Formats: sequence, C-alpha cells, structure tokens
Amino acid sequence: MSTILEQLYHQLIVSCQAYPNDPMEDLPTLTRVAQAALLGGAKALRLNSADHVRAMRAVTDVPIIAIEKSYAGGVLRITPDFASAAALAAAGASIIALDCTDRVHVAGEPWREIVQRIHDELGLLVMADIAALREGIAASQAGVDLIGTTLNGYTEETLGNDSFSYKLVADLVRETGLPIVAEGHISTPDEAVHALISGAWCVVVGSAITRPGTITQNFISALEKIPSNSSSHRYAIGVDIGGTTIKAALVDDCGETTSHVRIPTQASGGRDAIAKSTLDAIQQALAAAQKQNIAPLAIGVASAGAIDAKNGTVFAATENLPGWAGFDLREFITQHIALPVFVENDAHAAALAELHYGAGRGLGNFAAITLGTGVGGGLVLDGRLQRGQYGFAGTVGHQTIRVDGVPCNCGRRGCLEAYVSTAALVREFLALNPSTNLPDGDDAAKAMQIAKLAIAGDPSAKQAYSALATYLAEGLANIFNIVDPEAVIITGGLIEGQTGFLDEVQSKTQSLLHFGSKRPPKILPAGSSQYAGVQGAAAAAFAGL
Ligand SMILES: [Zn+2]
Repeated sequence: MSTILEQLYHQLIVSCQAYPNDPMEDLPTLTRVAQAALLGGAKALRLNSADHVRAMRAVTDVPIIAIEKSYAGGVLRITPDFASAAALAAAGASIIALDCTDRVHVAGEPWREIVQRIHDELGLLVMADIAALREGIAASQAGVDLIGTTLNGYTEETLGNDSFSYKLVADLVRETGLPIVAEGHISTPDEAVHALISGAWCVVVGSAITRPGTITQNFISALEKIPSNSSSHRYAIGVDIGGTTIKAALVDDCGETTSHVRIPTQASGGRDAIAKSTLDAIQQALAAAQKQNIAPLAIGVASAGAIDAKNGTVFAATENLPGWAGFDLREFITQHIALPVFVENDAHAAALAELHYGAGRGLGNFAAITLGTGVGGGLVLDGRLQRGQYGFAGTVGHQTIRVDGVPCNCGRRGCLEAYVSTAALVREFLALNPSTNLPDGDDAAKAMQIAKLAIAGDPSAKQAYSALATYLAEGLANIFNIVDPEAVIITGGLIEGQTGFLDEVQSKTQSLLHFGSKRPPKILPAGSSQYAGVQGAAAAAFAGL
C-alpha cells in the first residue's frame, strides 16, 4: 500500500474548482479557498489545472489529486491525454485522475494508454473517474490505483442520478478490492459519513464547501418552498436555457412567476451537462410546486439556438451551448418527467411573453427585440408568433447594416448584432476613451460599468450609447419597412435605466423611414422581466395544451 493512499484513509479531500465564468474563477481566489479548506482540516485536495496545482504545491505538502479539464469537441473530458498528465505531474501532483468511462471520446487519447504511461513514465498513482460499476471493474483490470464515483450522474447512462449512490461504492469495493473514493453529490457531513460506512476509502467534497454560488442557491430554493396562497389558476413550469444560466419558475396563466430557480448551465460540460442542468432546474421547480400543492399542467422550455418547435428538437446552436445542436430536447425531458413538454427558441419565447403578458397585449403585429450579448428577435404577425421553416424567423440581429463592416459571430460582416451588443458598447466606448480603466473580465462586466457611467452622465459613455442608437435605428428602419408592424418592443439589460435611449432610437429610426413623418415608428420598452423567456416558454405550454 502506497503511503499516499494510507494518508487518505477515511479522510476528507476538498475539491476546489470554479464554474467557468464564475466570479471565483481566478487563481488567487481558488488558492485562498484551498488554503482555507486545509486550515479547516482537509487532508488532501483535488485541483484542476497545472497552474493551480503549482500554486498550491508552493504552500503545502498534502497529497493533490490533479486533473486537467478539457472541452475539446464540446464535451467535458477529465485529463484527456498524457501530455496533460505530465504537466500536472511536473506541477507537483500526487495522483492523476482521469475519465475512465466507456463513453466514446471525440478528442484525446485512449484512457488505458494514459494510465499505463502515467505509471511507467511519471511514477504517479492513477485515480479512475467512473460513472458505473462496469467501468470501475474495467479500470481496475487496467491497473488503476483507486477509483472515484465522480462521474455517476454525468454520463448519458446515469443522467438523472442526482443523489450519491452508496450502493455503487459498496459494489465497487466488493468487485475491485481497490480504494474507492466517494465523490460527487455529497453535500452534507451525514452523507460523507454514510459514504465511509458504505466502504469508501475517503470522501471528496467540492461545491458544498468551495462554491458560494451553489451554497446560496440551496438556501434560496429552500426558502422558496414556503407555501404561498394558492388560487384557481392553471400553472406550467417555464424554463429558459441560456449560455451561462438556466432559469425556471412556476408560471400561472396570467404570467405571474414564483418559485424561481437559477442554476449554472455548465455549458462547457457539453450536451450531457446542459441536459442535466435543465432537468435539475425543472425538478427544483416541480418540487417547489409540490410543496404548495400545485400540479403544473405542462413544461415549457425556451432554449438558445434555432429550435424546431413542432418536433421539440434543437436544429442548430452556437458554441455557447456546445453539443446542443441535434438534441431531442422534448424527448429527453419526457423520458424523465410525465408531463407534456413544449419547446421554443428563447427570443421567440420572449416575444410570446410580450404578446400574452407584456407590452404586446392588444397588438396584432410587432417585433420583440432583446439586446444583450447579441440581438434576439421574435416576430408576431396577425397575433401569431412566426417561427419560419427552420426556426430562424425574426432573426433581426443578422441583417447587414454596414456592408464590409465588422465581423459577426455568424460569419458575415456588418450585422446589426455586431454593432449593437455588450461587445459593441465596449468597443465604441474604448474608441472614444482608450485610457479609461474598465473592470477585468468579460464584456458584460465592462458594459455594465459603461452603463453606470452613462447613467451618471459621463460624456463618452453617453456618446457610445448614442452610437448604438444610430446603428439600432438602421436595423429598426429595415423592420418597419419590411413588416410595417404596429410597434417594436425592446428589452435587455444593455438598455436598463438608460433614459432617453429609446427616444433617440425612435427619432433616428423615424428620420430613416420613407414617409417617416406620416408614420412615426412606435418603439416601446418591454413589459416583461428578466424572466421573459420563462414566461414565454410557459405561454407556449398553455397554448400547446
Ligand atoms: Zn451576423
């Protein structure tokens, strides 16, 4: 028995990682969190990336189980090749963990070869991350030194297992005789104790210790279970799948939302992870409904990407949701939950929210536009949402407003979306004011700072908004020319609190319109909230029933 394994016997290992784009996701923060866990008594760490291993090895001698997460091919894989393992070893890892499931991996090297080379060339122990008993037995036969239940609940076969499987631990101990690491879905001290009693060698706890966002959500969803007054409304569960967050809520037939759920999409984990997060969100909302003795009639799901609403499938999706294209979303949810499921594109759902519950009530023809990281659009004609042949109707963000203009994510140049978005706001502002210090991080954080400056009256920030108004007017004039709607309804975090912005857009649009003075374009702020996608998804469900 290796000394390292002896050191781990019946001990707590703290896994210290952050979700991509989480505010905790920087090396100094993660390092301090890991140090705090050691001060609390953790006897080992599980860390992602050679950088983090190196940073911690500089300050501690405890065993480090190291992994390198890879998202090549849009699917999460843990330590996909020997080069990653060698880098972790060089950084000071004690044990290398890797994905030993029998999933087909599109990228990387066969795990058996990696195991062999870690033993032969690095002289380190290997931990197999597996999801099912069969995989643990195969890993044991391949010569791994310890086995973790890490991936149970995360592979297609085990999707929906969202509590820890003590039986899997007991089975692995009996069948392999190797030290079994209980990892995944352990969130309380009682569960950790139960895992050891079931035969686990040691326990890894991650989110429940090191992710304040997850811990907070657990409290929030518990508090939201307090019963509210029920009524004679009909209810549906509405879900909105975005690139970073999945929102869900219980929605009544007046569009009122309660029991709000927000969980990270975990999009970097690919299709399996997104599907699992979606299911988690739905189940949390259903549990909240049950506590209030409310039986929702259906589930409405809004998702980014082009959606085939008739078949409930994802026709196409960008890299914001890797692996999502081609997914049979309705079939997947129906397999797990016995309620009718309706699926809609998120911008289309936002338009439905306006039609049924917002500024579009009483209008027959309008476009609803959401401004944010991109420009989302939904078109309602003669009181009906237009979806189009492939789900692309109303994609107003990809109309060219500047020939040979700046590149757009869609591959063309000069699209409206390339000129009116968080990234565009940052670009316009920095062009006027290159020396201003904007916060580190993504464009969203920078744009938020510029939005605050504009509200405070900063001339450059206001001018940047003015530039966006000019571009947006070009796009809106096209919409008014092609569709001649009663109104265009505009929403989005980008313009929240920017008084005067829509007035400026209105007058600029009018000046571009043929006979503009005889038909002043009506541009309205949206009536619905940040839960518009959730409300609209529920509206689609009510309509579908
Ligand atoms: Zn485009």
